[in-house]
Amino acid sequence: MRFRKFSVALICLILFLFPLAAHSGEVLYQYSTIDSLLAGVYDGQLTNGALKKQGNLGLGTFNALDGEMVVLDGRVYQVPFDGKVRQAPDGGKTPFAAVTRFAPKIFAPIKKAASLTELIKAIDQALPTKNIFYALKIEGRFAQVKARSVPRQTRPYPPLAQVVEKQAVFTFKDVVGTMVGFRCPPFVKGVNVPGYHLHFLTKDRTQGGHVLDCTVENLTVQVDPIHKLTLVLPQDKEFYHLDLDKDKSGELKKVEK
Ligand code: ZN
Repeated sequence: MRFRKFSVALICLILFLFPLAAHSGEVLYQYSTIDSLLAGVYDGQLTNGALKKQGNLGLGTFNALDGEMVVLDGRVYQVPFDGKVRQAPDGGKTPFAAVTRFAPKIFAPIKKAASLTELIKAIDQALPTKNIFYALKIEGRFAQVKARSVPRQTRPYPPLAQVVEKQAVFTFKDVVGTMVGFRCPPFVKGVNVPGYHLHFLTKDRTQGGHVLDCTVENLTVQVDPIHKLTLVLPQDKEFYHLDLDKDKSGELKKVEK
């Protein structure tokens, strides 16, 4: 009798859990907005330690705009202006970051792409729609990767478009490493970067940056479709009083490329 009760309970539990499993999926966890960063809000309240709890893959930047952030395998790496990568301390903070718990479901083989534009076109062909988010991981040997980092800023902070005029550009040839990032749908304009946004880290974790261009051959792109967005907005005066009325698409183009 007792066993039967237990079996019924077990079946109920399985029936309850299975639909959940079918519908659960990755969440894109994002802190602050891209327009806020473009406007020069370079200090946030979210710690790297808290960010890591929300995902093991992603990208962003650090307070005072102190370089490019690469989140890979649950670690937060910092690519400062001098290009010497270090692991960012858990207590450090970010003004803009996005992460997810990466579980790839689409594997797109890339035979050859002479540029980032060609790579993007090839990945796009493997995607079922442009209207959801995707997390991306591209691992292997790259013929070339052109990446950049930005100089740490002091207050009063200039807008991001001004800062990138002084960016450091690194060119890596025949390099083994990983690109991580996201493809966002067009309707996130102002919130995140519509289209592709990739950051790079070498296999030895000593170099990297925000990807400007690349040449690849015989690589597989791992893609994780994402249908949920958690957007966490800053709770401080600077963000509250920021004028975010204007369309900053032009500035974003300048900053990303
Ligand atoms: Zn970037």
